[in-house]
Amino acid sequence: MADTIQETVNELLTKFKVHRPPVPVDKIAKGLKLQLCSLPAEDEISGAIIRKGDHVIIAVNPAHHINRRRFTIAHELGHYFLHKGLGEHVDEDFRVAWRNADSSKAVNWVEIQANRFAAELLMPTRFLQTDLDSLSNIDKRTVALLTARYVVSPEAMKIRLSQLGILGPF
Ligand SMILES: [Zn+2]
Repeated sequence: MADTIQETVNELLTKFKVHRPPVPVDKIAKGLKLQLCSLPAEDEISGAIIRKGDHVIIAVNPAHHINRRRFTIAHELGHYFLHKGLGEHVDEDFRVAWRNADSSKAVNWVEIQANRFAAELLMPTRFLQTDLDSLSNIDKRTVALLTARYVVSPEAMKIRLSQLGILGPF
């Protein structure tokens, strides 16, 4: 099965000439003519996407750590590309939708897809593969190095490595 998320991300990286991490998600959003703005809100609110005709606004909670703000922009870009029908959408801590294997919880596929998109955009498979080829083993220190290199949270990096089958489930 062709992976549309990976394809869309690869096209974006080519279009914006991104050849190495960190992926400049804010520049990509602006390059797509999306408006980025701050949304002062409670801590649970990560961000939002608002579509009004051709005008699209991505709002981000400015109080959050840079890693989380970058993930929020990437997540909203996921909604932008994958969920065209979404008019106004506020994200309240979508991190709970990370683990999609748990069918006992109400699974929100829209959020899971947006998170998958965000992970692929911030930690593109081919960038990671190149980096990992030059490493002999993956330990705590390597994860910390990758986290700094990709400007993502350690949690996001660990989940990503586990998705790629590099780290065991945790
Ligand atoms: Zn969302």
